[in-house]
Amino acid sequence: MSIRLRLTIWYVGLLAIILIAFALVIYTLQERSALGEVDAELQTYAKTIVSVASRDVLIKHINGTAPSIVSRGEIAPGFTGTQLYVQFTNLWGIIGTQEPKLNETQIPLDDEMRDWANRGRATKRSIPLPNGILLRVYTEPIVLDNQVIGYIQTARVINGVSDSLRRLATLLTAGIVLALALAALVGVLLAEAALRPIDSVTQTALRITQTDDLSRRIIVPPNAPKDEVGRLAATFNLMLDRIETIFETQQRFIADVSHELRTPLTTIRGNLALVKRSKQTDPESLAAMESEAERMSRLVRDLLLLAQADAGVTLQRSPVELDGLLLDVYRQTRIIAQQTDHGVTVRLGAEDQATVMGDPDRLRQLLLNLAENAVKYTPSGGQVTLGLERQEGWVRVDVADTGIGIPAEDLPHIFERFYRVDKARSREKGGTGLGLSIAQWIAQAHGGRLEVKSRVGQGTTFSLWLPVTAGGANPPLAKELAGTPGR
Ligand code: ADP
Repeated sequence: MSIRLRLTIWYVGLLAIILIAFALVIYTLQERSALGEVDAELQTYAKTIVSVASRDVLIKHINGTAPSIVSRGEIAPGFTGTQLYVQFTNLWGIIGTQEPKLNETQIPLDDEMRDWANRGRATKRSIPLPNGILLRVYTEPIVLDNQVIGYIQTARVINGVSDSLRRLATLLTAGIVLALALAALVGVLLAEAALRPIDSVTQTALRITQTDDLSRRIIVPPNAPKDEVGRLAATFNLMLDRIETIFETQQRFIADVSHELRTPLTTIRGNLALVKRSKQTDPESLAAMESEAERMSRLVRDLLLLAQADAGVTLQRSPVELDGLLLDVYRQTRIIAQQTDHGVTVRLGAEDQATVMGDPDRLRQLLLNLAENAVKYTPSGGQVTLGLERQEGWVRVDVADTGIGIPAEDLPHIFERFYRVDKARSREKGGTGLGLSIAQWIAQAHGGRLEVKSRVGQGTTFSLWLPVTAGGANPPLAKELAGTPGR
């Protein structure tokens, strides 16, 4: 069953219950008030007759030997006696005075009414007569010397009252039916209008599935209300944005990976052909093939690591003395700098002591990535400085160089996979374009962050922030660096 139908049924059903309850209350109140008036009149009539008549006259009425009540003036003024009937009956049910005559019949007096009267109680009943007359009957005992000696009944034809009650019932029923029909119509229209955007979400989702076109969006008019359905449509569009971005990134990544792998493979195949043709091992070709094979295995290793990162692999955590680790990295960087042999000096800056919880191998890899980059992108005569400082529960490791720097427009992208400021230069230096993505993942996996400040021609500083203990506030420098790119 559709939500639209369910909503309408609920809405109309609830309204029906309320309206019917309301109508019942109105009808009952009206019935009570109409009959209450008649009952009060009948009771007063009976009591007046009994109180006015003497003992003897009452006995005569029961026996049927008394003259007319009206002619004797035994009733109070105001009672015409024409619409009101009175009947005396003895204990055995034999009728005495009956005035006026009720179309040759008598006012009904059943055993139950007699029982109540014998116990000194009055009863009020609506009794239909065979000729279609509806009679309201009041019955009470006539008591003399504490003994019930007969019964007095007063009655009135209430066909008029019941007719007007029936008219009221018909009116209420018709009103309810009309109101419910109208409510159902309005309910359907409202539900239709409210759920139309959901239909549009469904249609869009269906079309995307059928056509594989992730660029489709739900059209949300600018003046559309910001209600639940509006928010659903907006959220759905946001989700599509994300999926589209992820999909595009994924496709670009695959294209990048195949490109990155194809280049060294082409070089290797070219050199192999050369060796085959010349039938002798050319040391230059061998060196080129070795270097390309090395780059490929570095690339594959980095890709594997990123795949693990994407799969949400958790890191081994143990206390790591970061100062000792930095010293290791410093030594290794010096060796690298000497190997590259272009006169870059590597030195140590601030040397605070700090222990963090983390994976020592990954942290070493992160710092080495930064330090290797610093050496790679610093021309001869330049300097690379490694430093460690503690600040309010955080430890900051800086890798600063006096190298070529990174242009401001590239800064927001350098942590992206395969992003390089200068592709040829990076490749020539053996870079895979994945080093900073990996470094950033490791920093984040340790609850820290990686920040960068750079000026073209003057140098670059990468700062790794790690919490000294688990948790902690934002790194203080993050505020100073507000606006500095980095993710
Ligand atoms: P690569 O393997 O190309 O070095 P990375 O992910 O490590 O890849 O770095 C991405 C890009 O960021 C590099 O290609 C380079 O353009 C730039 N870069 C990284 N570190 C530095 C630095 N210290 N100085 C200047 N540019 C840098």
